[in-house]
Amino acid sequence: MPIAYIKESNYEYTKLKKDIFEIINNLDNNLIKTGSIVLIKPNLLAPSKIEQAITTHPLIIKIVCEYVLDKGGIAIISESPAMGKFKKNMKDCGVMDAINGMDIKIKDFIESREISVDSSINKIEIAQDVFDADVIINLPKLKTHSQMMLTLAVKNLFGCVIGLKKPEWHFKIGENRTVFAELLFEIYKAIKPKINLIDGILVMEGRGPGTGGTPRRLGILMGCSDALSLDRAVCDMLSVSHDFLLTNKVGKACGYNEEIIINGNMPKINDFKFPPKGDITFGPAFTRSFLRRNLTKRPATLNEKCKLCGECLKICPANAITLGTTEKRLKFDYDKCIRCYCCLEVCPHSAINIDKPWLGRVINKIGSKFIG
Ligand code: SF4
Ligand code: SF4
Repeated sequence: MPIAYIKESNYEYTKLKKDIFEIINNLDNNLIKTGSIVLIKPNLLAPSKIEQAITTHPLIIKIVCEYVLDKGGIAIISESPAMGKFKKNMKDCGVMDAINGMDIKIKDFIESREISVDSSINKIEIAQDVFDADVIINLPKLKTHSQMMLTLAVKNLFGCVIGLKKPEWHFKIGENRTVFAELLFEIYKAIKPKINLIDGILVMEGRGPGTGGTPRRLGILMGCSDALSLDRAVCDMLSVSHDFLLTNKVGKACGYNEEIIINGNMPKINDFKFPPKGDITFGPAFTRSFLRRNLTKRPATLNEKCKLCGECLKICPANAITLGTTEKRLKFDYDKCIRCYCCLEVCPHSAINIDKPWLGRVINKIGSKFIG
């Protein structure tokens, strides 16, 4: 039965080091041996400041590296971020300063290995380094995610799919969040990191996972030898059902539903702010396009904040964003847009919001009056 180890913690070095070492030792004291190649996969989504709570805290990464080196292992930090370049993100997010002087390899994911999977996903390309490592340490950040509601331990592994392959998947899958969850579940099954440690100290709620979210201090570190079980424990802590996270739901349908033992004092948080709920697709096929255009939520620019940096245009897998020639404003083609919210994820200026067309807002209002 998987055990989730919970500790109240903070970013004070001595306390954090004690907590992290204890959690990892509890997970498996003998996993890392002299000469073991240990791949450390943090969340370094985008260049950002520590207080924005977008990326795994640099001290957590540093202390995990210290743990690996203490055991005689070879520590490698790797990631394929959605925005920016990995090594620049390492610098901008404060990781390079934190690990300065330590014997650690910093390695871009470059080559992929194609793996076949049983589901409709069929084939996935995952970074070769993942398969070359003896041990993988998964270091996600606890954050909201506008498309998948939360990004935790399973979703963090999507960063092992290299570069443009990620938006390609978004484009292939389109708006189907369940298929995206199936993809994430298959990636998790292929990688299965033995050490998963989530940074739940300064987390993100609201319109995450990028600059649109709101940092919130929870002061929690959670570790588990199974990423999916860790995600389920986080759902318990945030007072939502396991199925609220679609990767959990997909996992359950595939028989991954073991009971989790909680070791430590897990708080019950009842007021965590999630992104706006997804829309329901309904009605006969010939009305769907109209309903989708006029009812469903969609990305929109806050013109007063937009600096026209072009990051959202670069990431958009559906080529649904263009720059208007006359008024120098972004335009969204909502027929092309697949509602993946990659644009919201990468915007460095919190300039993309989730908007609902006026008809959708009216119907929601009427609905809530009757439903209460
Ligand atoms: S919306 Fe954000 S990412 Fe897109 S151009 Fe404006 S500032 Fe850049
Ligand atoms: S406009 Fe944004 S939400 Fe729509 S497809 Fe492009 S990146 Fe995804």
